[in-house]
Amino acid sequence: MPKSNEQPKVNMEDIVALAKRRGFVYQGSEIYGGMAGMYDFGPYGVELLNNLKKAWWKEHIYDRDDFYGLDSAIFKEPRVWDASGHTTGFSDPLAECKVCNTRIRVDKELERIGVTADEKMSETDLQRLFDENKDKLKCPKCGAKDFSPVRAFNLLVKTNMGDFTGDGFDHPVYLPGEACQGIYLNFKNVVDTTPARIPFGIAQIGKAFRNEISPRNFLFRTREMEQADTQYFVKPHENKAAYDRIKQARFDWYIKMGIKPENLNFKQHENLVFYASDAWDIEYNFPSYGFDELEGIHDRTDYDLSQHTKFSGVDLSYTEPTTGEKYIPWILETSVGMGRMFLAFLSDAYHVETTSGDDTRVVLKLKPELSPIKIAVSPLLRNKPELVELATKVYRQLKTTFNGVAYDDNGNIGKRYRRQDEIGTPLCVVIDFDSLDNHEVTIRHRDTMEQTRVKISDLDATITKQLAGF
Ligand SMILES: [Zn+2]
Repeated sequence: MPKSNEQPKVNMEDIVALAKRRGFVYQGSEIYGGMAGMYDFGPYGVELLNNLKKAWWKEHIYDRDDFYGLDSAIFKEPRVWDASGHTTGFSDPLAECKVCNTRIRVDKELERIGVTADEKMSETDLQRLFDENKDKLKCPKCGAKDFSPVRAFNLLVKTNMGDFTGDGFDHPVYLPGEACQGIYLNFKNVVDTTPARIPFGIAQIGKAFRNEISPRNFLFRTREMEQADTQYFVKPHENKAAYDRIKQARFDWYIKMGIKPENLNFKQHENLVFYASDAWDIEYNFPSYGFDELEGIHDRTDYDLSQHTKFSGVDLSYTEPTTGEKYIPWILETSVGMGRMFLAFLSDAYHVETTSGDDTRVVLKLKPELSPIKIAVSPLLRNKPELVELATKVYRQLKTTFNGVAYDDNGNIGKRYRRQDEIGTPLCVVIDFDSLDNHEVTIRHRDTMEQTRVKISDLDATITKQLAGF
C-alpha cells in the first residue's frame, strides 16, 4: 500500500507537464513555435478522449430508450447562423491597447481586478464599467493605460468553402460556432425516419470553432473544440420536471465516472439570454483557478425550432400522433466541451503519493474503462530471450480478450511501473524467471501497488475480476 494519501496541492502546470511528458496532449504545431489555443492529443490522450466520448455516448444512446444519435456536417448553409443569432450576437467585448495593439477581453480584465462583469452585458454597460475602472486597468503586454472603445468582436470563424469568386470571402460560410445547430436542422428528419416520439432526445459529439480573443487555461478555452450535446424535445411548458431530472443525471454521471463529488458544483446563471427560461452550469474545481463551467444545462424554450422555422420556411412543428395536437417543441440542452471534460478527468485522477521513505509517485487513478491502457505486459528483463518469448506470448493472448493491452519493455521494471502509473494503467503483468518453470506471472495493482501471482491459464479471469474491482 502507498504510505500516504495526503495530496499536495495540484497546479495546472503539473497537469500540463504530465500531459506532455506522458503523451496525452501536445501544443498544436509545436515544431513551428506552437499556435495559440490549439492542442493535439497524443497516443494516450486520444485513448482517454475516445473513452470519455464512448462513456458519454453509452450513457445516452445505449443505456436510455429515448435518445437518438447524430453526426451532422461541419459546414452548414450560412443562413443557419443568422437564424441562430451567431452572425449578429456571438461576440466577446474587445478593447485594443492604443500603444501596442494588444487586444484584451474587457469582461475578463474587469473580473481580474475584482469587478463583476460577463460577456452577456451590453457594450454600453461594459464601456461604463471599463471607464469607471480606468485607473486600475493596464495593458497586460506593455502596461499602457490607453485603450480603444469597447466593441463587440464576432467569434465566428469564416471560410471560403465552395466560394470561387473574388477573394473567396464574398459569400463566406462559417465554421460552426456551436455543434448543436446540426441537431435542430435534423429534428424533422429524425422524427420522420425513426420511432422518436416526444419527449425524446438527440445526442451528438461535434466540432466547433471560435475566434477566442484570449485562449487560456490549457484545454479549458481553446479555438477549436469538440462539444458533446444533447437536445431533449418536450411539449411546451412540460419542461420543468424533465429539466431537473436531466440536470441531476448529468451531475451524477461525473461522479459515477470517478470525479470526486467535492470537486463538482451547480451554479445557476444570473443573466439569462432573452429566450431561455433557466440555465445552470455544472462546475468543476479546476487546478490553479478553481470552480468554473464544465457543462451547461439550458432550458431554451421553443427558440431554436421557431427560429429555424422562420428562416428556412420549413414548418418544424410536431404533431402528437394520438391527439393530433400541433406545437413547436421546447428544448432542454446539455452541452460540454470534450476538452474541458478531458481536463477535469485528468486533473481529478492526478494523485501524488509518498511510497517509501521520501519516494513519491504520480498516479492517475482513472477508472479502467477510461484508462488509455488497461494492461501493460513486461518481461522482467528485456535482454533475456526466454522471458521476451513468454511475455510476447502472454501479450498476444491478452490482446485477443481485452482492449488496451500494451507491451512495455522500456527501462527497468521500477521505471515501467512509474510510467504506467502516470498513464493510469490499472494492471501490469510481469513475466520473470519463475514464470518459465511454474507458469505463474505477477499482476501488479496500480492503486494498492500489491502484487499477486497468477497462473497464466487463470490470467483472463483474474484480470477481468481485478479490473471490475477498481
Ligand atoms: Zn499595450
